[in-house]
Amino acid sequence: MKDNGKLDKLALIKARSEDKKIGLVQGSWDLFHLGHLKYIKKAKELCDYLIVAMDSDEKIKKRKGNGRPIIPEDERYNFIKLLEIADDIVIKDANEEKWGLIKEVRPDVLIAIKENYNALQIMNLEEYCEEVAILPRQSESSTSDKIRKITIAEQRNRIDDLDKKVDEKVEEFKKRIDFNNKMDAPLPQLVNYMKKSTDWITPVSAACYYNSEWHFGANQSNFNIPKSDVENRTELYYATVEHAEINLLKNLENVEKLDSPIYTTLFPCDKCMKVLIDKGVKKVYYLEDHPNRNWSKRSHALADEKGIETICLLNKKEETEIQENIDYHGFKYIYPPNARKQEQLDIMMDMENNDRDPLDPNYIEQEILFTTDYWYISKNRFPHQDTGEQYLIVAKEPVYDIHDMSEKMWIELKSIWITLTEKYNIPGGALCFRFGNQELSGASLKRLHAHLVMPTDDKVRFPIGGHKTLKKGLHLNKEN
Ligand SMILES: [Zn+2]
Repeated sequence: MKDNGKLDKLALIKARSEDKKIGLVQGSWDLFHLGHLKYIKKAKELCDYLIVAMDSDEKIKKRKGNGRPIIPEDERYNFIKLLEIADDIVIKDANEEKWGLIKEVRPDVLIAIKENYNALQIMNLEEYCEEVAILPRQSESSTSDKIRKITIAEQRNRIDDLDKKVDEKVEEFKKRIDFNNKMDAPLPQLVNYMKKSTDWITPVSAACYYNSEWHFGANQSNFNIPKSDVENRTELYYATVEHAEINLLKNLENVEKLDSPIYTTLFPCDKCMKVLIDKGVKKVYYLEDHPNRNWSKRSHALADEKGIETICLLNKKEETEIQENIDYHGFKYIYPPNARKQEQLDIMMDMENNDRDPLDPNYIEQEILFTTDYWYISKNRFPHQDTGEQYLIVAKEPVYDIHDMSEKMWIELKSIWITLTEKYNIPGGALCFRFGNQELSGASLKRLHAHLVMPTDDKVRFPIGGHKTLKKGLHLNKEN
């Protein structure tokens, strides 16, 4: 065997003249594994003279991106050579014409795996080869899968308690959708696959039925960007996450057309929807949606435009429709859509139903720290996410409108602000005072009140801007 990575034409002619059956098998052979070995051995069994073609570094890089191959060309070459199975080894360079080597060798048998060629391509290949032998994949996972798993495992180690954080979110999700293991396929597996996500803020999984089995993908945080940018996002910013639908397609490898439905735990964003449409997907089943987010609106519009059927698998629609008929501004003391927790909402509703203002100093359950002429000061019973200390400064009398706030109240507010910062050693923070239409202010209680917020190490998210309907998973307990 010549040792230059070029086709040994003389040896090939000789083998032909000896009536040997010529076989050709091609691959990258990166991170050579047991599957590769079985594959090459099977190929050899199908012929007398086996040519093993190997993609050059440049060719692999072009197809699989920088960072591949892991093992450089000459090492891969020597590895195959030392196996002593190949009669000739050819390195294919990046600008080789399509099927160039096949056309040059014209093998009696071309050995390939199912994923490499579709039915039409096989028909066309038969013009250049006597026979195309399709072998099943010899290993559970390809080299790409393995590298991906190693990368994800590494990423998992970079965030403290990542698994725990993801598990908690998955459990919350299960509660929201009334999950049970007897749901139809692929839902139980799909939901449990969310645990493979490394996005601890919004784990998402996707599935489809392809080649007579279920395939899954989960979203992964993009750890190439700073951790703080992943943590501080409030939307599913595409750049901070590799989306589940895309990872599902990656797991299918080399799929050109996909006409099977896609199942997702969260309605696909517009970018994923575009990719799915390009792949030929016609139907999307989903469990949850964020219909108020712009990416969701764009995605629905895109699906409608292209005639993609989108089906929510949870019959929560009716419930939301009923709730949407409620005039949330019609309540006297509260604005339910801005409630953040069910417990909070239940207390609020209970008070409202008994014609009590939840911020009335006579009814509030938390301790009053001190009072002034116009205000009382207490701690927030339901502090906002990541807040450190949070003090509530509440109008003692039922004042609901800033126009009803007297000069004296204003002046007192300033002195309370100063007193609080000194008394409780608050070196910095914010005084948040919302007003007016709760859909814009974000307040859940109507009586005038201000929050004095001191953050911890993390940034505080204090919402300004409200909701029109109840948060997902919350419901109004009208019976109480
Ligand atoms: Zn997406």
